[in-house]
Amino acid sequence: MKTIPITAEACAEPQVLRERGQHEVFCGLTGIIWLHRKMQDAFFLIVGSRTCAHLMQSAAGVMIFAEPRFGTAIIGERDLAGLADAHEELDRVVGELLARRPQIRTLFLVGSCPSEVIKLDLARAAERLGQKNAPQVRVLHYSGSGIETTFTQGEDACLKAMIAHLPPRSAPDRHLMVVGALADVVEDQMRELLTQMGITQVDFFPPRRSASLPAVGPNTRFVLAQPFLADTAQGLRAMGLRAIDAVFPLGVEGTTLWLKAIASAFEVPEALVDRVTEAPRTRAQAALARQRAKLEGKGIFFFPDSQLEIPLARFAQRELGMRLLEVGTPYLHKGLMGPELALLPPGVSLSEGQDVDRQMDRCAALQPDLVVCGLGLANPLEAQGVATKWSIELVFSPIQGYEQASDLAALLARPLNRRDRLAA
Ligand code: SF4
Repeated sequence: MKTIPITAEACAEPQVLRERGQHEVFCGLTGIIWLHRKMQDAFFLIVGSRTCAHLMQSAAGVMIFAEPRFGTAIIGERDLAGLADAHEELDRVVGELLARRPQIRTLFLVGSCPSEVIKLDLARAAERLGQKNAPQVRVLHYSGSGIETTFTQGEDACLKAMIAHLPPRSAPDRHLMVVGALADVVEDQMRELLTQMGITQVDFFPPRRSASLPAVGPNTRFVLAQPFLADTAQGLRAMGLRAIDAVFPLGVEGTTLWLKAIASAFEVPEALVDRVTEAPRTRAQAALARQRAKLEGKGIFFFPDSQLEIPLARFAQRELGMRLLEVGTPYLHKGLMGPELALLPPGVSLSEGQDVDRQMDRCAALQPDLVVCGLGLANPLEAQGVATKWSIELVFSPIQGYEQASDLAALLARPLNRRDRLAA
């Protein structure tokens, strides 16, 4: 199959190759790996099978030894009549867990796909356990099932489960909520820049302590810091909160535009934004120039995985001078991605969903210098001599903001450097 040619005038409303074949992506359980690091007083109890436990142990790798704040309640095979026992078993596991770890303030029951788990009513279980352990522990539930979620959608489902519990905010001053899990170091840098711009009432969601959820009210505006939070954004809008539409804070340009969109919503003069951002912008541009020398002109192909693909592609093309061969994304939310799509070059090949064999064929025909893909495809591609970057690494790493722009470029350059060293 050929990618659909796109004309220049169609760029505002780009054509997208939609595929609904076999796809190779992680399930939403994977989000637990970064969410448990972010919310230090939360615990994620996967209600699942041994497969889920194995996925978490292999995906979480080293972290499994670091006193993890997640675990798996294994629900074995049972018929419908045995479901009452499953609920009792879950209550027992949760009772033991909370007794052993009194510091837990939020317990997430995370659903998965084995049929025994699907039959369990986790909403009812969360309500029952929440009542039993209130007010010390809030018990929430969401699904990380591979049937319902891919990879980063686990975070979306988790945050959506939390927003109903955001307390009301009565303070009359304007308030910003930045939505999407970010590394603490990135949050600190963003807070500093926003403060210098005069925006001092700022909360990050999810918070570092799940027990301290940000209060929101009619004067709250929210902005996404991660592109994969469509359901959370929709839920916040349904609560009456207004969104700030922006590109995502990847790269120097992305970070500047993201800050400017916030500044505009808070009526901060553009000259002040320019003044506040000048030093970090100049520093980041100088650091990027070094990576650009390595990456300029190189062809990059994105397989759909994390939903970060479109902002990454925009950064790679506009700030690193890379050629976009295909930009695949698991889902394309035109509303959230509108500002990003407007910055992509005319005629870019966009694809949504996957038919993995066809996409592998297109990739082979286009001979990219670098492929960004999931772990499952990296090995076969490397075996074919293609340099790959695991998209999961780009989700785990702090890549947002000025100070991280060259780190992000370095992550893309690393597989090419490795190849050069091997070839030398
Ligand atoms: Fe568990 Fe389903 Fe994810 Fe497999 S795809 S690890 S069974 S939730």
